[in-house]
Amino acid sequence: MKVTDALKILGLEKNPSGSQLKSAYKKLALEFHPDRNPGDPEAERRFKQIVIAHETLKNPKRSADRATPRGRKSARQRGEYEEKWEDIFSHIFRSAREPEDEKKPKSRDLHAQIEVTLEELTRDSEKEVSVSRRVRCASCEGNGAEPGARVGACPACKGAGEVRYKQGLAELWVPCSACDGSGEHTGEACRVCGGEGVTSRRESLKVAIPAAAKEGAQIKLKGKGDEDARTGEAGDLIVTVRAAPHPIFSRDDNDILFDLPVSFSQAALGHEATVPTLRGTRRLKIPAGTQSGRVFRLQGEGLSPAGGRNTGDLLIRVLIETPTKLSERQREMLAEFQEISSPSTHPRRRRFLDKMKSLLE
Ligand SMILES: [Zn+2]
Ligand SMILES: [Zn+2]
Repeated sequence: MKVTDALKILGLEKNPSGSQLKSAYKKLALEFHPDRNPGDPEAERRFKQIVIAHETLKNPKRSADRATPRGRKSARQRGEYEEKWEDIFSHIFRSAREPEDEKKPKSRDLHAQIEVTLEELTRDSEKEVSVSRRVRCASCEGNGAEPGARVGACPACKGAGEVRYKQGLAELWVPCSACDGSGEHTGEACRVCGGEGVTSRRESLKVAIPAAAKEGAQIKLKGKGDEDARTGEAGDLIVTVRAAPHPIFSRDDNDILFDLPVSFSQAALGHEATVPTLRGTRRLKIPAGTQSGRVFRLQGEGLSPAGGRNTGDLLIRVLIETPTKLSERQREMLAEFQEISSPSTHPRRRRFLDKMKSLLE
């Protein structure tokens, strides 16, 4: 690997000091460490590059010599030297894969649902959602160790802060992922989080719900998911909009619908009804002779998404209710009404009877 490439990989300026090189390497090697990214091929690729870049910069003169003690440092020989590391890498990656499952990075995104009424959807609104989040433990700052407990050597690296891998002539050292390269370890788990580095906390969060949001719409609250114990980085909270059931209205896209029961005399004589809307009430004129099932449309009384385009209407379907539980007097009057009805009173029925007659002839 060329020195200029190695510098770029580690994000360093030309001629870094020994401590600059060491801290850049430690930070990046731990970030892409196979223990922390098991089975992630991209992390694996980066990790190899980082290790090789570090080896290249640590000892630019000797890096080729060590592998080929008698030879000149040709690019090919350097390549061979890097090839030898492949054995070491495969060993590192194998041991990272073996402990399995628990190490798989869990998604830190959280999910929640929020119920929204149709009335709330008439405008942009804000609601609160309560979620239980995992946040980095404030007591141990995420490392899981009881603060102030006696510090000992990390058992994984025996206090070195790094793990040496050796294979034939090649040798690599990698920061220890168990202790974050510190070499230290406290025997006692943090009393607040039980050593997990995170604690659960119930939080009430404000969610901005856009007007006319659809059932199932998702609203993302960035950084309000679970926190990572080590880095403190948080996932997102994804809130799904659920429509609250409404006692009268139903929804079709941005239109609002409902059935309006009307007595048959109101429908026959004409009637001015007070009808509910999402924003209050309106007067609706039902003309004399209105048939059951007729739909009246109140324009613009539906839901209105931001920008005011595609504003829906309120659709009112008239349903004529046949009178029941008649009193004696009502019965008499209806019977009389029936008697004095002419075919033109019920033109639909007359047409039907005409058709039936022609069928039977
Ligand atoms: Zn803790
Ligand atoms: Zn260690």
